[in-house]
Amino acid sequence: MKATKYRDYQPGEDQLALFPDISGNTVNGLGQKLRKRPTPLYWFDPDTIPHGKLQKYFYENAGKLAHLRKETSIDQHKRGPTTLADLAAEKQEDTPENWSRRIKEFALANESDLIGITRIKDEWIYEGHEVDDKWIIVVGIAMDQRELAKGPPREEDVSSADEVSKQYNRAARASKAVANWIRSKGWPADARTGPMAGDLIMIPAAIESGMGQLGKHGSVINDVYGASFRLASVTTSLPLVADSPRDIGVDDFCSHCQVCTNTCPPDAIFPEKQLVRGEMKWYVNFDKCIPYFNDTLACGICIAECPWSLPGVAPRLTQKMLRRREKKSRL
Ligand code: SF4
Ligand code: SF4
Repeated sequence: MKATKYRDYQPGEDQLALFPDISGNTVNGLGQKLRKRPTPLYWFDPDTIPHGKLQKYFYENAGKLAHLRKETSIDQHKRGPTTLADLAAEKQEDTPENWSRRIKEFALANESDLIGITRIKDEWIYEGHEVDDKWIIVVGIAMDQRELAKGPPREEDVSSADEVSKQYNRAARASKAVANWIRSKGWPADARTGPMAGDLIMIPAAIESGMGQLGKHGSVINDVYGASFRLASVTTSLPLVADSPRDIGVDDFCSHCQVCTNTCPPDAIFPEKQLVRGEMKWYVNFDKCIPYFNDTLACGICIAECPWSLPGVAPRLTQKMLRRREKKSRL
């Protein structure tokens, strides 16, 4: 496997010196029995989080390759309007079913590749943050796995970083378009775009809205794009209909697959589910991942190497897993 040659990776003294006293896994709630809201960990204002110095190290590192990049996620002109449209004076009325259908049709015709709707849960909102809206519309934006697989980004080839930024920018445009469409009907809506974290974590919302299931590598796996997609979202008070979570066979597959655990250069991916804020789930060791992630300008090996992410594989894999499950249930 291509990344195994990095397996003896050791973080440099410069990064080790930036670690705070508290482990990122403790901040993240690893081992915590109680369900609770997440604590801001990374991709926030670096002066407000314990691991802010490491985040600044990432920015400095990214800056070194900036002259080689075709696209970065700070290219504001590629991220859609900087402010959302004013609310239309008149609030239009329709049924929740119709609003949901119309939003999905609009999103899929305006740069979104995946869309799901669910009710916001309090446990998704970061401590110290507030979200008044009841609904979240999650937008998925496909990435070209062949570009990702050229990573991790480095002097000789920054294609994978360009691809990630390009799709984050499309995700920003797509979510702002959805938010503005809702606002044009007189209903409040906010676009929430990456790569910076916002007020709430999007991964559980994506799973709850049926977009896919959590993979061992800590990213959502979808039955069309595998893990090769990025998320953005829109929150709104417009009454909608929630989609349902879907079992597409990811858990069964991950239980027996070790591609990401074997490939991750700093050996950061736990082979078994962990207790995190009251829930058993796949989990990535933050303290092990982040130095490599920082050194390689966002790594992404686990997403690119995941079998589900290979072009055309996910639809076949999900069918295979579900068929196998059905067969077992008949025995
Ligand atoms: S590489 Fe394998 S174990 Fe890791 S997330 Fe993908 S399917 Fe699951
Ligand atoms: S992103 Fe983190 S978990 Fe994934 S392969 Fe890289 S170092 Fe490992």
